[in-house]
Amino acid sequence: MKKTSEEIITKTVWQYSKPLPSETLAFLQGIAEDYGKVKNFVYGRYSGIKNMNRLVPVYDVLNEMRHCGLRAQLNLPAAYYELAVSEAVTDIRSMWGMLKNKLRDLINANENLSADDRAYLRTVLKINSVFSAILNRQEHELPSKVVGLEIDAKRLNNLICRLVRKHLQQPKTNSQAGFKVMPAGYRYKEQGLYLVSRQPRKRICIPLRDSNTSSRQLHIVLKGDIAVIAMPVDVCARKSPDAQNILYAYIGYKDMLTLSNGHVYGENLNKLVTPETERLYEKNRERRKQYDAYRQSKENGNLKKAESILANNLGKEKYLRIKQREREKTANYINAELNRLLREEKPCRIVITKPILKGGKKLSYAAANRRLTRSFNGYIREKLAYKCRLHGIELEQISPYATASTCSGCGGEGKREQYDFICENCGLKLPAALNTARNIEKLAGFKPSPLGKGDREAVDEVAT
Ligand SMILES: [Zn+2]
Repeated sequence: MKKTSEEIITKTVWQYSKPLPSETLAFLQGIAEDYGKVKNFVYGRYSGIKNMNRLVPVYDVLNEMRHCGLRAQLNLPAAYYELAVSEAVTDIRSMWGMLKNKLRDLINANENLSADDRAYLRTVLKINSVFSAILNRQEHELPSKVVGLEIDAKRLNNLICRLVRKHLQQPKTNSQAGFKVMPAGYRYKEQGLYLVSRQPRKRICIPLRDSNTSSRQLHIVLKGDIAVIAMPVDVCARKSPDAQNILYAYIGYKDMLTLSNGHVYGENLNKLVTPETERLYEKNRERRKQYDAYRQSKENGNLKKAESILANNLGKEKYLRIKQREREKTANYINAELNRLLREEKPCRIVITKPILKGGKKLSYAAANRRLTRSFNGYIREKLAYKCRLHGIELEQISPYATASTCSGCGGEGKREQYDFICENCGLKLPAALNTARNIEKLAGFKPSPLGKGDREAVDEVAT
């Protein structure tokens, strides 16, 4: 399937209000609080097994929620209320999606199951109506795919029920920082956003810093004494006429992207990430110590000391603020380097490897694990995919199989030494990332090999 340059994609444009008077802030905070209450109510009522088959389409739940009395009790306008309900239903659906993924992992790892058992369980997980019927112990027809399998369906159904009982978690929101509003719930006038209020015909004005307007759902977030408004905007993905290069890129931990032509973008990303990772690690260890001290003082009846530790050493605000600032710094660097790549390399197509599968081989030591989780690999992939869509660039992901261990010169097996790749067969020595990028270039266009060995090697690579 060829992607055309006319693809429409949705961007988020941020709009800022002027500083707001306290009554306006109180109004927005009140709406945000009630919005959270509605969401938690929906979570409580619909995230159990009884309702799992009723979440699509959302109208069913929405209809019940319209008549349950909660809206009147909160006196929350429908323009907020209904979006809170649908947002909560979406969250519940993704909760079920994640739970099913978890069950798949557990089923794969369970050695007491036969191939037929697994085939049955996988099929059942795919078909929502059957899955729901099993959880609710209802009669159901077996999908044709599982007829003829040698299984004890009752035993397997019990296993499913047990696993769901164990791992099902009701979502909950504590965030009272924002809410969404329907187009019917706002209008613009003279660079002001007028939101529907709790009183009929009375609107609350949010003075804006620019004159952008929207006709879509808005997401409003409170930040200090201003409101930040996220508005979705459709833009045409635009292909640049001189973009005609194919790039083969390795996404690394040390350098962000290494191309098979030798160019590097996001050089020394690790120098930005590692000190912060180590700092957080130290910080967290220190916080654990302080927490123990706090608990001990409390147990010993030294409440004054406990309080002082809580106030001076266990404050979350500064900790989170610094963490957030460091993340933003890294994210900015990543974005700037991705933009530079698009500008300088003018790609029409970029080939990378698929991400490393979760649940593969575990890394051998904790530091590498920490690095992997904070290596921004997922963030880089997400941003790269987004920018590719935005500029009509094709992004292809091939299997990482053997891309790290094979010599790009002779095809033999080589070895890693720190950041270098060394082939004793032909004497090739070059940065490991570049060797991998060249292998990606060689393998692109070939049929991907089954995942397995390659993924593990990719993990090993991140660990070094
Ligand atoms: Zn070689």
